[in-house]
Amino acid sequence: MRYISTRGGMPAKKFSEILLSGLSPDGGLAIPESYPQISAAELETWRDLGYQSLAFEILSRFIDDISANDLRAIIARTYTAEIFGSQEITPLKTLEPGLHILGLSNGPTLAFKDIAMQLLGNLFEYTLEKTGDKLNILGATSGDTGSSAEYAMRGKHGIRVFMLSPHGKMSRFQTAQMFSLQDDNIFNIAVRGVFDDCQDIVKAVSNDHKFKISHQIGTVNSINWARIVAQIVYYFKGYFAATQSNKEQVSFAVPSGNFGNICAGHVACMMGLPIKHLVLATNENDVLDEFFSSGVYRPRSTAETKHTSSPSMDISKASNFERFVFDLVDRDASQVVALWQNVEQGNAFDLSSTPHFAKVKDFGFISGSSNHAARIKTIRETYQRYNVLIDTHTADGLKVGLACREPNVPMVCMETAQAAKFAESITEAIGHEPARPAGFENLEDLPQRFVVKDAQAKLIKDYIEEQCKST
Ligand SMILES: *Cc1c(COP(=O)(O)O)cnc(C)c1O
Repeated sequence: MRYISTRGGMPAKKFSEILLSGLSPDGGLAIPESYPQISAAELETWRDLGYQSLAFEILSRFIDDISANDLRAIIARTYTAEIFGSQEITPLKTLEPGLHILGLSNGPTLAFKDIAMQLLGNLFEYTLEKTGDKLNILGATSGDTGSSAEYAMRGKHGIRVFMLSPHGKMSRFQTAQMFSLQDDNIFNIAVRGVFDDCQDIVKAVSNDHKFKISHQIGTVNSINWARIVAQIVYYFKGYFAATQSNKEQVSFAVPSGNFGNICAGHVACMMGLPIKHLVLATNENDVLDEFFSSGVYRPRSTAETKHTSSPSMDISKASNFERFVFDLVDRDASQVVALWQNVEQGNAFDLSSTPHFAKVKDFGFISGSSNHAARIKTIRETYQRYNVLIDTHTADGLKVGLACREPNVPMVCMETAQAAKFAESITEAIGHEPARPAGFENLEDLPQRFVVKDAQAKLIKDYIEEQCKST
């Protein structure tokens, strides 16, 4: 298996060579030269596999430059009942016959990003140990991604994490989740400013190539290919759990932001998993729903991006979308280059009058959007009808999934976070706060470890340099 760029300007590379970034030098995203094809006979033997064995079968098709034994060991220490709450890792909950919730948020930070990030932590540590290199991960977060990255990288050899967050602007729960980590290799930096200031600093430091190279600066952003690969596994797992035989088809409803989760569903479909529909759900930030219903992709400016009660889906451009469009235009990189020239100038592109747009249907994609009122209503009704409490993001997926349900096709809705993280909206929906999962009861009372800095790239660089010298 080798990887090329969606913009055609990268010589084919091995998995380990694209692992640490995902963005190729020509500005495109790494993508497999072709998707592995799973035969009906193979799919039959996969039906009864446990999560770890299934993960090995799938990951080994994409990662052929790590030995089978080592890959098995990495998977075995990643997907454990201890880290994900059960041996099933992604348990399927049935609301009623033909309607299910796939539990993706039982990891350490109670959000689905843990599934990929925990694997990434172990893959990074493994490759760095081989080469003897070090990695300083620099990131900006307004909540979920940062804590997921910190919980995945804590205690890992050769890796430090420097995570910028807007001082005093995250929820108390999110702040406590990150700042209570006491590991020596985790550095929480509260920046006097807003999230955009944090992101600007990350950009400024990354654009200082001399500093970047000499301090081994890297990132763990959502375009990392290994994160997509890790997410393919639970589409297979969810399919097997919701069906009796491989003759059946299943639809998946996916609350979407950066198009990472549903991109993994697309790859699973291309590999031969019998998926009827991939139902893409957005919140009020509906740039992706707009594309799938009209053929026009019109990324928004930061100013146009709304703050919603499903905040992890508040995106203005979907960073993984380019991978899907690459397949849509029959893998013609020159077309991707032309389309993204528009995007990078802040403009839209329109595929509606091209033959490519018809392929959206062939790929099984349909879409819809949700909003605050629909989200609250869905949470309330799901609680009343099934006695199941879902979070605001999952509610967006379920709302759109229900609207797209067909007779005799099971609908599997992805649960991307736990209700406990969004107490305010849950209280609005059901009249009381959600219960805290075990181990999180006194989170806000734990001692916190962080520094506060002014929003200047120079100060952050100095701090990174100091820590690299002393730890
Ligand atoms: C990140 C996130 C999403 C969006 O997933 P994408 O892969 O960016 O489409 C949805 N829900 C939650 C809770 C998330 O953290």
